[in-house]
Amino acid sequence: MQKIDWMQEVNERKDDLVSDLRQLLQIKSVLDEENASFDAPLGKGIKEALQYLLNLGEKDGFIAKNVGNLAGHLEMGTGEELIGVLCHVDVVPEGDGWSVDPYGGEVKEGKIYSRGASDDKGPTMAAYYAMKIIKELKLPLNKRVRMIIGTDEESNWRCVDHYFKNEEMPTTGFAPDADFPIINAEKGISDYDIVLPAKKIDQTNHMLISFYSGRRYNMVPDHATAVLSFSGEQTDLIQEYSSFLEKNELKGSYFIESGELHLELEGISAHGMEPKNGKNAGLFLLKFLTQLELDSQAKRYIDFGVHILFNQSRGEGLGIDFKDEITGDLTVNVGKMQYEQANGGSFGINMRYPVTFDMQKGKETIIKKASEHGFSIENFSDSKPHHVDENNALIKILQKVYEEQTGEKAELLSIGGGTYARSLKSGVAFGALFPGRPDVMHQKDEYMFIEDLLKATAIYAQAIYELAQ
Ligand SMILES: [Zn+2]
Repeated sequence: MQKIDWMQEVNERKDDLVSDLRQLLQIKSVLDEENASFDAPLGKGIKEALQYLLNLGEKDGFIAKNVGNLAGHLEMGTGEELIGVLCHVDVVPEGDGWSVDPYGGEVKEGKIYSRGASDDKGPTMAAYYAMKIIKELKLPLNKRVRMIIGTDEESNWRCVDHYFKNEEMPTTGFAPDADFPIINAEKGISDYDIVLPAKKIDQTNHMLISFYSGRRYNMVPDHATAVLSFSGEQTDLIQEYSSFLEKNELKGSYFIESGELHLELEGISAHGMEPKNGKNAGLFLLKFLTQLELDSQAKRYIDFGVHILFNQSRGEGLGIDFKDEITGDLTVNVGKMQYEQANGGSFGINMRYPVTFDMQKGKETIIKKASEHGFSIENFSDSKPHHVDENNALIKILQKVYEEQTGEKAELLSIGGGTYARSLKSGVAFGALFPGRPDVMHQKDEYMFIEDLLKATAIYAQAIYELAQ
C-alpha cells in the first residue's frame, strides 16, 4: 500500500467538495408520494438528488447505475470482492423555526447549513470525495468499491429492499449515516400488538367507556385519556385522582360531560429505546384506574397493563427480561394503548432485544403470557439484531484508520436503535458525527462543521483504500 497524506489530498479539493455538497443540499429531496410518477416513485426531489449524484459520478469516471429510480450505485476498481459504502440522499421534512434557508446550503462560521447537512448528504459527499481521491490518484485496488445510494432511508427503506433484491450484496462495508467511531452492534427491533378481543360487558355501576394513549410504537406516550361512566358520587373519585397525580408528580385534569367523567394525564415523552427516560402517561392512568371497581372486560385490560407492563421496561412482566454483554438490556416500550368498550383493547409494543437473545423462544413466551390473560399477539414485525464481531477484519481496519487520522481511540459502540448499516450483511455504521459534537440530525438549523466534513473525507478515503487491498 502506498503512503498517502489523505488530509492534504482532501484540502486540495475542499472548494469543489463544498460546492458539490451545496448543490446536493439545494435539492429538496423529501418523500413526496402525492406527486410520484413511474420514473420518480418517491417524488421529484428524491429523483433529482439521486440523479445529481449519479451524473456527478459518471462525469468523474465511475460506473453509474440507476436501480429502479429507488437507489443507485457508483463503482470503481476490479476484483471478485465488493466493498459497499451505503449512503442516502433523502431527507426528513425541514419543519419550522429555521434561522437560515433550509435548502440554501449556506456556509457561515465554519459550518454548512441545510436539511440533510449531517444526515446524510454531508457524509455522503465525504464518502464520494473519498472515492474520487482514490480514483484521481490512480491507486491500485484489488477489490471493487461501490457507493450505494439509497433514497428512502428516512421512511420505509424501499430503496435498499429493492436494491438488494436486484443487485449484489457487498462482501463487507460501512454506512456513513450515524456516529464515529464505529457502531458494530444494534439491537433487534420488534413491534407487536397485545390484543384483548371484545367481550360482552357485564353492566356494573362503573364502566370504562374508552381509553387512549400514544400514537407511535417507539415513543413513550406523554398523554392519556380515559372516559368513565360513573353512577354515584364523583367527588371522592376526583379527590383520589388529584392525590394520585400529586403522589406520582404528574399533571392531569378532568371534566364531566353528558354524565361521563373524562380523565386526562400528562406523562413525559422519550424515545422508546429507553423507556426509563420518560413517564408513560397511559400506564400511569391505568395504574390509577386499577383502584376502581370496573366492569370485568375493562378490569382484564387494566390489570394486564398494570401487572405485566407498568414499570417493567426490561420485559420482566412478560417473562422475557434478558441482557448480554454486547448490547445490554432487552427493553419494552408500550407506545400505543387503546380500549373501547365495544371493541376490546390493545397494547402496542416496541421491543428492542440484545443480539444473543433467542427471539423464537421469546416470541413463544410472549404469546403464552398474553394468552394466559385472554390476549393474543397481532401485527408482529421483527428487524433482526445486527452485529459484526470485534475481531472481524473490517473492524480492525476501520479502527486503525480512525485512530491514525484522529489520534483518538476507536471505541466500538452498541446501540438500541437501528442504523442503515443493518441492511448490509456484514457492515457497520462509521461516522460521520464525531464524539462530542451535538447531534443536529432532523433538527432545525441542521449543519455540519466543514472541518468535520474534511476530516471524515480523509478517514473514508484511507478506509476505502485499505479495505480494497
Ligand atoms: Zn440518515
